[in-house]
Amino acid sequence: MINLVLFGPPGAGKGTQSEKLIKKYGFVHISTGDLFRWHTKNDTPLGKRVKEIMNSGALVPDEITIAMLKEELDKNPHAKGFLFDGFPRTVPQAEVLDKFMKDNGTAIHFVIALDVNETELRSRIAKRKLESNRADDEEEKLNKRITEYFTKTVHVLPYYEKQNRLNTVNGIGEIETIFGNICKVIDTK
Ligand code: AMP
Repeated sequence: MINLVLFGPPGAGKGTQSEKLIKKYGFVHISTGDLFRWHTKNDTPLGKRVKEIMNSGALVPDEITIAMLKEELDKNPHAKGFLFDGFPRTVPQAEVLDKFMKDNGTAIHFVIALDVNETELRSRIAKRKLESNRADDEEEKLNKRITEYFTKTVHVLPYYEKQNRLNTVNGIGEIETIFGNICKVIDTK
């Protein structure tokens, strides 16, 4: 069983690469962004709680995010391996994820961080906004999301680096090339 985190700022290509990785390796995909979007779309009590926060581009508080993640893990006791996408985004989330994995006799084996600079990110998200109409891709919200990444989420990287679990892959270029480089990391583990 291999569990990995696909890490990167908004617009880095986590969603695209996740889809390809699931097809190739059969991971159970856990995207906290997708889960939150499902809750808001279906107007669940959790969706009602997080809607405003998400629309502002801010991070949802850890306690809410972690509870939702735990529920999702519990639904998949026989997973061959998990691919976490968009989680963890804070150091407490990373710590709790390690604890959940350990409690289940497993671990986060490694993290793949997609490296994309800010200029490229902004141009990708502007393009995605035209294609998908995601409310949180509007400019003001986008600024907030990028700020959240560079003030909070980026601190997760040294957490994994210190434990030799971090692998950085260039996230700029052809989708297939990036995918190939991610697969190389996975296959050499
Ligand atoms: P994403 O699609 O991963 O960019 O997530 C969309 C939004 O969901 C984010 O801007 C946050 O508001 C919320 N979100 C997703 N994952 C997390 C997380 N791990 N921690 C806090 N908020 C999250």
